[in-house]
Amino acid sequence: MQVRAIRGATTVARNTEDEILEGTRELIREVVAENGICKDDIISILFSVTSDLDAAFPAKAARAEGMDDIALMCTNEVPVAGSLRKCIRLMMHINTGKTNGEIKHIYLNGAKILRPDLVQQRGIQDAVPYDEKCSTTDFDKPGDAPAGEKIRIAIDGPAGAGKSTTARKVARQLGIPYLDTGAMYRAAALKATNEKISYYDPEALERMLSATDISVSFDEKGEQRLFLDGKDAGDSIRTPQITKAASDIASIPAVRRIMVEMQRKIASRGSIVMDGRDIGTHVMPDADLKIFLTASEEERANRRYLELAAKKQMADKEVIKKDIGIRDRQDTERAAAPLRKAEDAIVIDSTNMTPEEVVQAIISNLDLHKDRRKCL
Ligand code: C5P
Repeated sequence: MQVRAIRGATTVARNTEDEILEGTRELIREVVAENGICKDDIISILFSVTSDLDAAFPAKAARAEGMDDIALMCTNEVPVAGSLRKCIRLMMHINTGKTNGEIKHIYLNGAKILRPDLVQQRGIQDAVPYDEKCSTTDFDKPGDAPAGEKIRIAIDGPAGAGKSTTARKVARQLGIPYLDTGAMYRAAALKATNEKISYYDPEALERMLSATDISVSFDEKGEQRLFLDGKDAGDSIRTPQITKAASDIASIPAVRRIMVEMQRKIASRGSIVMDGRDIGTHVMPDADLKIFLTASEEERANRRYLELAAKKQMADKEVIKKDIGIRDRQDTERAAAPLRKAEDAIVIDSTNMTPEEVVQAIISNLDLHKDRRKCL
């Protein structure tokens, strides 16, 4: 008999019995499936949880999986500053005499950022549009943001990295509004297009914007609706032409000045999750948490392609990839507030992560940040 140990970790969004047991169950199942082992191969499982998880013992989930005769133990993790929050870890000892000897350590959800080297390429079940995975019932329990405490989160990153999806979900989980600032640049581009104003004429654009009413409202779920001169802009700001035009006019300093002013005014009202290109660097340089969300160009193009396909819009993946590349270059190389990671931003590469995993990673970091502030 040869004893070997498999490591695994996951995070949960809330300190509830259901979430702890479900998260643990998912982790155990994944460890077992990925390592091709069965219950009889397992000698013992040692669980550890961070101190913010005390609603249930993870071992209960193992027993519910029929692991009654396996030695199980739960411990509390050493509270090291900077470690992940709401995290469940396990060490499973197995008898490798009955396996092929190859060990796969498993990191799920927010814990993926602990071991990016181990993250596997995703399978077919993830080949659905990024946005399609957002269910309105996913995060229907606002209230993680304590009453009276203002939380401002900045999410920046290149086109198609999943910023808006992430911002919306994080905001919903915290019960606060989110602002998709790209929609504001898109609205300005739509008006310039309708009025046949050159995207490269600063004076004409400034004149146009001074006579333009761009406003956002948030419905009871915190969802954003953008109004251009009093009319709901809907999807008219999402066409390929307007997408390109938004990037063009966003390089004009006068346009940025007006937009940033409006965005800061919205930010001053209270808690918000804001996504864009310059939020952490210019709009909210004092945000509580700054995230720089990226993904490979291939993955970003793929997500856009699937999004369009879901709307029955035909598109060529290579053309999408080229357009994203052009927009990235334009956004990062412009002189006025270029897309750049703020020095104190946390980088999350979402290439191999689901939207839920990205959200959990952000929420974990927010908890950590709050704890740090308490210590100051
Ligand atoms: O995020 P979205 O793709 O909707 O943004 C459209 C364009 O608006 C971007 O390509 C970028 O040029 C511009 N933008 C910006 N600063 C922001 C948000 C968007 O320059 N804060």
